[in-house]
Amino acid sequence: MAEMIKTKLLIIGGGPGGYVAGIRAGQLGLDTVLVEGDRLGGTCLIRGCIPSKAFIHAAGQFEEMTHAASKGLHGISLKSQPELNFADLVKWKESIVDRLNTGVTGLLKRAKVRVVPGWAKFSDAKTCTVAGKDGDITITAEHVILANGSKSVELAFLPFGGHVISSTEALMLPVLPKKLVVVGAGYIGLEMGIAFAKFGSEVTVVEALDRILPLYDAPLVAPVAKWLKDNGVTVMLGAKAKGLSKDGKSLTVEDKDGKTADLPADNILVTVGRKPNTEGWGLENMGVDMDGRFVKVDRHCHTSMKNVWAVGDLVGEPMLEHKAAHQGDMVAEIIAGHRREFSHEFIPAVCFTEPEIVSAGLLPSDEAAKAQETISAIFPFGANGRALSMDAGDNGGFVRVLARKSDHRILGIQAVGAHVAEMSGEFSLALEMGATLEDIAGTIHVHPTLSEAFHESALRALGHAIHI
Ligand code: FAD
Ligand code: FAD
Repeated sequence: MAEMIKTKLLIIGGGPGGYVAGIRAGQLGLDTVLVEGDRLGGTCLIRGCIPSKAFIHAAGQFEEMTHAASKGLHGISLKSQPELNFADLVKWKESIVDRLNTGVTGLLKRAKVRVVPGWAKFSDAKTCTVAGKDGDITITAEHVILANGSKSVELAFLPFGGHVISSTEALMLPVLPKKLVVVGAGYIGLEMGIAFAKFGSEVTVVEALDRILPLYDAPLVAPVAKWLKDNGVTVMLGAKAKGLSKDGKSLTVEDKDGKTADLPADNILVTVGRKPNTEGWGLENMGVDMDGRFVKVDRHCHTSMKNVWAVGDLVGEPMLEHKAAHQGDMVAEIIAGHRREFSHEFIPAVCFTEPEIVSAGLLPSDEAAKAQETISAIFPFGANGRALSMDAGDNGGFVRVLARKSDHRILGIQAVGAHVAEMSGEFSLALEMGATLEDIAGTIHVHPTLSEAFHESALRALGHAIHI
C-alpha cells in the first residue's frame, strides 16, 4: 500500500555524510527520515575505507610471516611459509563490515531516525518516492540533505565486468589473482596494489602521468616508489591503458614511447578516480545548481535551492570520509539553529600505502606557500628511536613542517613512514589551533614515540634540533 511521510528532515544516503547527519539530527530532536538504497555505512564502511584497511592490515601480517619463514625477522623464524586462504580473508573482512553496518543501524535507531530502505527518486526539491516492498513511499520534507556519495570512474574502452574490476570487486575476489594489473596510481590503486603484492600477486601499475600519487610532492612519494621497486612491483609511468587485447585476456598498454604491449592479467583493477552519484535519482528535478560534475554548495553546504543541503563526495574534492562526516554533522546543527560553517583550509589526508603518507595543510610546493616567505624542516625516522625499535627507521620516512617565516605560524605538516597515519590527529590539531613552531617545540612529547619526530622537526626549523 502506498504510504505518505511528512518529516522535518529527509536525508538521502546512509554513508558517512548521511548517517552522521542523521544521528546528530536525532540527538538535536529533529524529526528525521533517512533513505538508503544499499547498506547503511555507504562506500566507506561497506566497500571502501574499512574493508580496504582490513586487507592492508592482513597483507602486512602475511608479508612479515613470509619474511620470517624465508630469511628470519628480528630473530624470529618460521619453519614453513604461511598459507593464505583468500576466501577466509574476505569472510573476516565481511565480518568487520557486518559489525559496522549493525552498529550504524543501532545508532540511527537510538537517535530515533526512521530508516526507509530503497532508492529515492525526486520529483521536486522536497519530495521523493521510494519503491518499497509493499508499494511506493512518498516522502516530503521541510529540509533535505543530499548525501548520495560517489562511485568508481569507468573507462569507456575498459568497462567493468568479468576480470576488469573496480575497488569494490577487488575486495570480494574469490581467489588471489596471480597477476594483477592496476590502472591508475592514485591512492586507491596503490593502497590495493601494495596489499595484493604483499599477499603474493605479481602486480603491475600503469599510470598515465609521469609519477605516482600526483597530489603529493616528490620527496613525500619517494619512499613509496622505493618500496614498490624493492618489492618487485612494476610501475609503468607515462603509460596509458588502451583496452583489452583481442583475446580479452590482457590489458593493452601504450608506453611513454608510443609502443603498445599486452599485459596478461587475471584481474585488471581500474582505479582512475571516483565520480559523484548525480544521475538516475531525479537531481535534475530539484533545481539545484551544479559546480562542474559536483552539486554546488556554499560554506554552509547549502545548495542553490532553499532548505536543500548537500554533503560529502557529492559536493566535491577531497572525497574523504572525515570531510563527509564533518559536513553531515555541521548541516544537522545548522538546521537545528546552530551557527556553523565549513572551513576548508585544513582537511588532513592519509594514504595507507607502504609506507603511509599523511598531509595536513600546505605543501611547500603549493602556490599559497610559495607566495609567502616560509621556513621548512624535516626530521628523518632514521634518527627516531621508536621508529628503529619498530623496524620503521630505514624506509626513507620523515616528518616535515612548514611555517611562516615572520611569526613561525605552522602552515603545513607532512609525514611519510610506517604507522604515521596515527599522527594525523596531532597535525590537524596543531593547524586548527594556529600553533607556532615554538608551541610544538615547547610541548613535551612522549618518549619513545614517532611523535617525537614532529617535535624535532619544529626544533630543527628553529635551528636547534637535538637528535640530528
Ligand atoms: P557514500 O559513502 O558513497 O554514501 C552514499 C550512500 O548513498 C550510499 O550508501 C548509496 O547507496 C546511497 N545512495 C545514493 N543514492 C541514493 C538514492 N537515490 N536513494 C537511496 N540511497 C542512495 N576515505 C577516507 O577518508 N579514508 C580512506 O582510507 C578511504 N579509503 C577508501 C578506499 C576505497 C577503496 C574507496 C572506494 C573509498 C575510500 N575512501 C576513503 C573514500 C570514502 O569512502 C568516501 O569519501 C565516503 O564514503 C564518502 O561518504 P558519503 O556519505 O559522501 O558517500
Ligand atoms: P585518482 O587519485 O584520481 O588517481 C587516478 C590515476 O589514474 C591518475 O593518476 C590518472 O593519471 C590515472 N589514469 C587515468 N586514466 C588512465 C589510463 N587510461 N591509463 C593509465 N592511468 C590512468 N582531491 C583533490 O582534488 N584535492 C586534494 O587535495 C585531494 N587530496 C587527497 C588526499 C588523499 C590522501 C586522498 C586519499 C584523496 C585526496 N583527494 C583529493 C581525493 C581523490 O583524488 C579522490 O578521492 C579520488 O578520485 C581518488 O581515487 P583514485 O585513487 O581511484 O584516483
